[in-house]
Amino acid sequence: MNALTIPEDYNYIAVFLTLGCNLRCPFCINRYGDADQRYPMMSGDQWLAGLNRIVSRPNLPITLQGGEPSLHPDFFSIVNGLRSDLRIDILTNLQFDIEAFMASVPPERVSRDAPYASIRVSYHPGEMALEATVAKVSRMLERGYSIGVWAVDHPGNGPAIDEARRVCTERGIDFRLKEFLGDHEGRLYGSYKYPDGLSRRQHPSVDCRTTELIVGPSGDIFRCHGDLYEGRPGIGHLCHEDFDIDTDFRPCTSFGFCNPCDIKIKTNRFQQFGHTSVDIRGAREAGA
Ligand code: SF4
Ligand code: SF4
Repeated sequence: MNALTIPEDYNYIAVFLTLGCNLRCPFCINRYGDADQRYPMMSGDQWLAGLNRIVSRPNLPITLQGGEPSLHPDFFSIVNGLRSDLRIDILTNLQFDIEAFMASVPPERVSRDAPYASIRVSYHPGEMALEATVAKVSRMLERGYSIGVWAVDHPGNGPAIDEARRVCTERGIDFRLKEFLGDHEGRLYGSYKYPDGLSRRQHPSVDCRTTELIVGPSGDIFRCHGDLYEGRPGIGHLCHEDFDIDTDFRPCTSFGFCNPCDIKIKTNRFQQFGHTSVDIRGAREAGA
């Protein structure tokens, strides 16, 4: 297949090996829509054929995520089968056999020069045991893996997050917070560039352009996380010879049903604040 060159202004390559997960976090953003289990999974060979088309930069990894990416039956062979010049990040809840992982995937396969860990473990209080999680992370750190712990700053989890931060810091584990996005007790959390995108009501058509390559479990490429999570049609397929990345604005009639991930103001891959995944023409910006 022809090469798929990632545009210079792209900030993220998000590969959702599956939207399935072995946990049930109440605030899970993958369940923001109702399409979380809709997509069939591609086989490991199909993933490798499609992902190995990608031409990226050392500072722009392929981020394997989900759901829980380790639930893909070919997870290890996908990680090991990616072209060696493609860097890999993994977002995981670490509910897998780390000894089997370490026996199969060497540390250098998932490490790169970046201001944060390549393996980012999401810690979810109430769903995961802190001690067991920290023990696994410590073991992988000892073996040379680039791994850290991230927790969603959910307003209902304050004490549990403080405890996780304390324990991780004591053990030399990089601990970070992710902003909680969405509603809690009648308040909307998060900073959004296009707040009307979350209104959950129909708006006039807008034009939207992304800076992310978003690949769903069946290999379909989506304009945005909202399209993926809500089951709206993709714009192409990773394994289709004629698919190429189009950086133009695309018309969208789904504005109002955006996902918080796409329109929040956040840090880019250089950890600089102020980035938004999409640019939208025809939508009111915050403060306007
Ligand atoms: S671990 Fe992540 S994907 Fe799984 S339920 Fe929790 S938030 Fe959702
Ligand atoms: S306007 Fe919203 S729903 Fe439409 S493509 Fe952009 S982010 Fe997605």
